[in-house]
Amino acid sequence: MYRSAVWDEPLLKELEEIKKAHYTPQSVLPDSLQRKTPLNIPDLDETQVMRHFFHLSQMNYGIESGIYPLGSCTMKYNPKICEEISHWEQFILLHPYQDESTTQGTLRMMHELEQMLCEITGMDHFTLQPAAGAQGEFTGLLLTRAYHESNKDFNRDEIILPDTSHGTNPASAAMAGYKVIEIPSTKDGTIDVGILEKVLSEKTACFMLTNPNTLGIFESEIDDIARLVHKAGALLYYDGANMNAIMGKARPGDMGFDIVHLNLHKTFSTPHGGGGPGSGPVGVKEKLKRFLPVPRIMKKDDSYYFDYDYPDSIGKIKAAYGNISVILKAYIYILLMGGNGLKEASEIAVLNANYMKKKLVDSKLFELPYKMLRKHEFVISCERLFSNKGIRALDIGKRLLDYGLHPPTVYFPLIVKEALMIEPTESESKKTLDFYIDTLLKIAQEDPTIIKSAPYNTVVRRIDEIGAVKNPILTWKTLEKIGKS
Ligand SMILES: *Cc1c(COP(=O)(O)O)cnc(C)c1O
Repeated sequence: MYRSAVWDEPLLKELEEIKKAHYTPQSVLPDSLQRKTPLNIPDLDETQVMRHFFHLSQMNYGIESGIYPLGSCTMKYNPKICEEISHWEQFILLHPYQDESTTQGTLRMMHELEQMLCEITGMDHFTLQPAAGAQGEFTGLLLTRAYHESNKDFNRDEIILPDTSHGTNPASAAMAGYKVIEIPSTKDGTIDVGILEKVLSEKTACFMLTNPNTLGIFESEIDDIARLVHKAGALLYYDGANMNAIMGKARPGDMGFDIVHLNLHKTFSTPHGGGGPGSGPVGVKEKLKRFLPVPRIMKKDDSYYFDYDYPDSIGKIKAAYGNISVILKAYIYILLMGGNGLKEASEIAVLNANYMKKKLVDSKLFELPYKMLRKHEFVISCERLFSNKGIRALDIGKRLLDYGLHPPTVYFPLIVKEALMIEPTESESKKTLDFYIDTLLKIAQEDPTIIKSAPYNTVVRRIDEIGAVKNPILTWKTLEKIGKS
């Protein structure tokens, strides 16, 4: 109960009476189900509770706290206006089954976002349903199957992808029931067109590609790749997680891709991490339109409606119509930025990545495998530090925490040994980039025994990462048991 010294006895008594008269809940539960003992919760006042939760929030690290250069994740600035508008009651109080005549604004927003995404990617149609990039991939592969089957082409059961691909690509392919064929990259870190040509066959359903790839390198032979894939009768899939590198500059639709997914929470700025929420819209060329998930959002005269009349559709991919709040934030972000703003964001993201890469490589403490020029992210290797001083990529990531910095992605892509994958994004100032570079160089020259036991300044010290994977404790009850033993 609320306690305060300035509240006198009579007032408290009066409040008690009012509460008893008006708010005493009449329990509808049978006696057997009613609580016999008081709830075991701490008896704290408001200030203590506030400070407890505020302290917890400060133990967290987010883009509000500092740079978050997690490669492949595009942890960029999220304009607060997007947050604010996405909390408007007009949006959050809607029910998915409300009559369309009462949800015209939201339908219009979704319809317009589909058009914007078509324009940005060069595709003909979009669905906003998938809830993440990975679900977009899965959707794209179901579309692939529907397409081949509609052509009476039943023997295509292989998906080809490069060894630089994100783990979700082979996982989605396997989930969609396909065999996965991985091809090795060239010494430049790009697709080996010769090998691709040999592996393509009448069994190939689709070739999945990220461009620029996960090394941050643009696949400049994309025209030849598209020609070969199509000549084999297969489809070309674009993993759009790296769209932040090329917005307003180049479009996957123009490169010959048939299916595209975007990660709205990455490129189009929604706070993400810790598992969600996300949105992975899928765009297709005209020939795949009839297979898209239902319902589609249609416009007739000046009104919008859901159309379920797609007999060849792969069906529904998600309950309702997608993660509306993420969709809405992307819509606001695109309107805020404008076409030139998006282009400039990509240009600065690429400039920032190349600035950091150059300084780190010039130091000779880290190596840069593959080509020199990168797009919005780059991957360096700590192999020399490892062989000379026993310092691993993981140790550097942990030590960065002591300096108040979020580590980059480590050990991905798999083809780079002791990989640090850095994506600064367009949101960071030169001062911040310089501080990050200087800290990395400083750590590389520190005493290895210090680094190997880092971090020191965090609430939780070095955790047992293998144990966390192999023996995860996911329920509170198990944790309680262990705590007692
Ligand atoms: C993030 C990412 C994905 C998966 O997207 P989610 O939205 O996390 O499911 C796929 N490919 C690449 C290259 C990515 O970076």
